[in-house]
Parts: sequence; structure tokens; C-alpha cells
Amino acid sequence: MILVIGGAGYIGSHMVKQLINAGHHVLVLDNLSTGFCELARHGHLVVGDLADTALLERLFRENAFDAVMHFAACSLVGESVADPAKYYRNNVSNTLNLLDVMVRHDVHHFIFSSTAATFGEPEYTPIDESHPQKPINPYGASKLMVERALQDYATAYGLNSVSLRYFNACGADPEGELGECHDPETHLIPLILQAASGRRESITVFGRDYPTEDGTCIRDYIHIEDLCAAHALALEALVSGKVSGAAAYNLGNGNGFSVQQVIDAAKSLVAEEGRGIHVEEGERRAGDPAVLVADAKRAKNELGWTPQYADLPTILKHAWEWEKHLAKLS
Ligand code: UDP
Repeated sequence: MILVIGGAGYIGSHMVKQLINAGHHVLVLDNLSTGFCELARHGHLVVGDLADTALLERLFRENAFDAVMHFAACSLVGESVADPAKYYRNNVSNTLNLLDVMVRHDVHHFIFSSTAATFGEPEYTPIDESHPQKPINPYGASKLMVERALQDYATAYGLNSVSLRYFNACGADPEGELGECHDPETHLIPLILQAASGRRESITVFGRDYPTEDGTCIRDYIHIEDLCAAHALALEALVSGKVSGAAAYNLGNGNGFSVQQVIDAAKSLVAEEGRGIHVEEGERRAGDPAVLVADAKRAKNELGWTPQYADLPTILKHAWEWEKHLAKLS
């Protein structure tokens, strides 16, 4: 049995579906602060919070968990600057609460959602695991604190973990059952597609004066299915003992696309249905590095991970099917 914390959210819900399809039993714990019960329909959902130690104790007493996957976190960079207490409490303190319960109940396999934001301003690109970790906002700092704690928990308590540092998670379930629905939505691809479906007027490009070929920022967009596949491999590696201690892997395609390239690809996709996308020009968004691209060789070599949906048209096609579904509901 796998405990998936945050299994009603964007990444967690796709993970739950993959785990169940692979034959695992799954219990989802989610406080529904940003998740939706409709997204958790593939696993048994318990609504509750990681700060609730009594609830955690009960769940661990009543179930024999083989591993815990932890997706529940606050993840808005701007909000983390304005309200760091929320980030340190939710992302650090509540996670430590969970880890302590795991240790008390002898559950020793943990998969942690970390982020490229732990690296801060890139010193070189693509970013491998040896790149210095110097986060520039409380969100990245909160995730790095947990990564560091995991190293010490491995040494002291034998809690084995894999931290997976996501670059830009995107796309949707290829079967159309699940997808991204953040409120507020801040991510580039869903915003572009909302502009195409008519759920928003336009998309604003945040800066065209970056030192890149077309002047817009470059990011490494990684399909949600590929991201979840890496978690499944990490789980296998932990449970089989192939990976132990506190391991960390960067997850991306190693291919960067600029904001303009994403907009162009989305425009050609929706043009097939006679739709357009209105684009506006904006200022740079604070804290956006020009280029963020992963070197994911370690995950490929050690976990045997091979991304299947690395091309932009496929990522956009799946995200577009989901956006049309949401547009119909609204
Ligand atoms: N971006 C943009 N307009 C938007 C939202 C995002 O130009 O309305 C840009 C943003 O500046 C960044 C890229 O798109 O360069 C990806 O941003 P997103 O928020 O999706 O992910 P992040 O890289 O911040 O994790």
C-alpha cells in the first residue's frame, strides 16, 4: 500500500492513476486546499492535513504502508515571498511532522517532490545534480530544507528517500481524465490554452529582453506522465534497495523551449480548430532566470528513466484536450 499525500492535486492525481494501473493499493491524504476530490477519484481519499499528527498516527496504525509519496506543498514563488511563514510551516514543518510519524512506524521509503527552484539563479546550464543549490525565494528554500533534513534522517533513522527536482511540469493525462487546474493559474501552458479556449482574454509574455535567441525565457517542459513514470521507477529502486540513503534526481527533458516557441506551437495546434491566441507584451516577472534546463542523465542512468512525451506538440495536445474539458464545465 502506498500513501500519496497531495493525491488530489495536479501531479499527485496523475501519480495515483499510474500506481493503480500498475496494481498498487493507494491511500490518498489531501487537505483539498488546492486539490479537488474529482481528481482523486482513482484512489481512496482521506481529507486531512499533515499538521494533524493524531490523524497521521491513526492512518499509519491502520495501514501497512510500503512507501510514502509526498506531493502536498505550497508552490507559488511570489506568494512565498509575501507570506514565507505559510511556506515554512506547510512545506517544512508539516513535512517533518510526516517524517517523524514515518520513523515511529518504521516506514522507510519516501519520495519527495522537490524543485528546480532549489538551485536558484543558474551558474551553468543544463543543470545537473552537482549544481550549487542556492535558492532565491522561500519556496525553493523550503524544499531545500527538506532535502537537507532527508540526508540527516537517512543517516540517523535509516529513512531512505528520493527527492525528485521537477523543472516545468506540464501536459495532462493522455486519456483525458485528469489535468491541471490551479486557482489562481500562473503557469504558462494552461494560461496560453485558456486564452485559446476563451476562458481568458489573452496571454502576456513576461519580458522579451532576456539574453536568449528570441528574447523570451527558456524552460524545460516535462510531461506529467513522464514525471510520474520517474516516481514509479524511484519507488521500485527504493523498495528493491537499489537506491538507499537520500538520493536526488533532476527531472527534465534537457530540451529548452522559449515562451515564444510555446506560444507558436500552441497557435498552430489551435489554428486546426479555427481558434487564435491573443498575445500581449509585459514586463519581466521578478525572479525569473533566463534559462532553466535540466541535465537528467542521472535519472536516466540510475533509474532507467526515458521520457516518452518530450515533444512540445504532444504536451500541448494533451493539455489542450483537458482545457477544452474545463472550458465546457465553466
Ligand atoms: N510566463 C509568461 N507569461 C505568463 C506566465 C508565465 O511569459 O503569463 C513565462 C514565465 O516568465 C517563465 C515561463 O513562462 O519564463 C514559465 O513560467 P511558469 O510560471 O509556467 O513556470 P516557472 O518557470 O515559473 O516554474
